[in-house]
Amino acid sequence: MEKRDELYAGKAKSVYGTDDPNRLILHFRDDTSAFDGKRKEALERKGMVNNKFNAFIMDKLQAAGIPTHFEKLLSDTECLVKKLDMIPVECVVRNLAAGGLVRRLGVEEGIELVPPTFELFLKNDEKGDPMINESLAQTFGWATSDQLSRMKALTFQVNDVLKQLFQDGDMLLVDYKLEFGVFDGEILLGDEFSPDGCRLWDAKTREKMDKDRFRQGLGGVIEAYEEVGRRIGVNFG
Ligand code: 5GP
Repeated sequence: MEKRDELYAGKAKSVYGTDDPNRLILHFRDDTSAFDGKRKEALERKGMVNNKFNAFIMDKLQAAGIPTHFEKLLSDTECLVKKLDMIPVECVVRNLAAGGLVRRLGVEEGIELVPPTFELFLKNDEKGDPMINESLAQTFGWATSDQLSRMKALTFQVNDVLKQLFQDGDMLLVDYKLEFGVFDGEILLGDEFSPDGCRLWDAKTREKMDKDRFRQGLGGVIEAYEEVGRRIGVNFG
């Protein structure tokens, strides 16, 4: 597989073309951002940690029958993925109240959400990733009704698999964000799954072990990500 030009640089990952028009290389950088890119910092080892963490999770999800874009690890900070036609809608499931939900509704942080909630956001930094719904997504052509149903079903399937995985490592999967895309007419899970895009708390102490450590200036960000990985069996080498 030959690496070609950089096609796109996101806030934490860069995307490269390859000699195969249907495959891309994702490069996980050390860059970390929050508040829609308004706060940025490079955290040593983060690219490697998130790349290996994501590969481990994508493998688990594939094994559980959830189709993903992930193909294989290429290096400490790179992986090969299928080239998707990305749907600009972020799917968020919450098992416990935190973050945006607490801010928006004033509910107490940490209360259990039964059943878990499902929310949609438009992927648009300039507008601060505004909350949307199925009607808006269809009207503005961001996703079809069939695509939205499939994305919702897959997002909840991911919850079943990962809630258990993290519970086995004495952690609570508080919430997470997924992105999807289309490949050969099929909806596949795209982007990444890492502590950058989910909330994980220690089950006993409820200590935060995810990107909220960066957002809230708590320190020990990468150490926490590595601890999460160690508890679920990720090999960081
Ligand atoms: P909230 O709506 O509470 O800010 O976020 C809900 C969950 O989705 C959190 O786990 C958060 O990390 C994740 N999330 C929401 N939007 C984004 C985003 O634009 N980028 C990343 N990396 N994660 C996001």
